[in-house]
Amino acid sequence: MPAYDPQNIFARILRGEIPNDTVLETAHTLVFRDIHPQAPVHLLVIPKGPYVSYDDFAANASDAEIVDFHRAVARVTRDLGIDLDQGQGFRAITNAGAHGVQEVPHFHLHILGGRVMGRMVQ
Ligand code: 5GP
Repeated sequence: MPAYDPQNIFARILRGEIPNDTVLETAHTLVFRDIHPQAPVHLLVIPKGPYVSYDDFAANASDAEIVDFHRAVARVTRDLGIDLDQGQGFRAITNAGAHGVQEVPHFHLHILGGRVMGRMVQ
């Protein structure tokens, strides 16, 4: 696992150094809108802790952080009307490392909704 880079853009967002469009903030999690949305709803869900990628988070975050993260996903998808209960649905993706073509080295889950997604082909 590469060392966590505290200068990455999401670390700077968490420190309040860069403005962002926050949708939800909880004890351990921040949800904000992607600056280059790929769908009508394009959210980024990030833990506040210094985790490089999904596998880092899954292996090393506390139970409280992991639960808080997933509850935040449930809450924003419901609040923004893209959950299954409201007849919609969404895509959740995380890119990890070089082969996953991860651009920002702070674990983040993309939540895409508001339209029918194309099939994933690559
Ligand atoms: P990755 O390729 O690492 O999975 O995705 C990084 C995402 O972060 C991209 O979708 C990109 O548009 C988004 N992003 C990069 N810089 C910023 C920023 O400064 N603010 C916000 N809100 N999103 C960003």
